[in-house]
Amino acid sequence: MVVLGLISSILLLGNILFVASWLAQRGVVDWARTIRSEYLTGTAITIIAVLLVLLVSPRAKSAGLLRRCPVCDHVLVGRSRYCGECGSKVS
Ligand SMILES: [Zn+2]
Repeated sequence: MVVLGLISSILLLGNILFVASWLAQRGVVDWARTIRSEYLTGTAITIIAVLLVLLVSPRAKSAGLLRRCPVCDHVLVGRSRYCGECGSKVS
């Protein structure tokens, strides 16, 4: 536990030093812009990953949480018995 804390504090210190020198090189405006774009990319990746899991996961399918309309192929989320896109009954 002590060794772990030591290692993590060293890593943290190294990160702070790295970020500080990087900041000095690039300037704060560049830094803020990079953080924002990285944050947005991370959010987009998270959303895509969640959607992929929902689409691929056999658990979600077997639980009936994700189905496709037999008429218009619209993806249905939840247990509704009617397609929200075309109104057809989903078995
Ligand atoms: Zn439909």
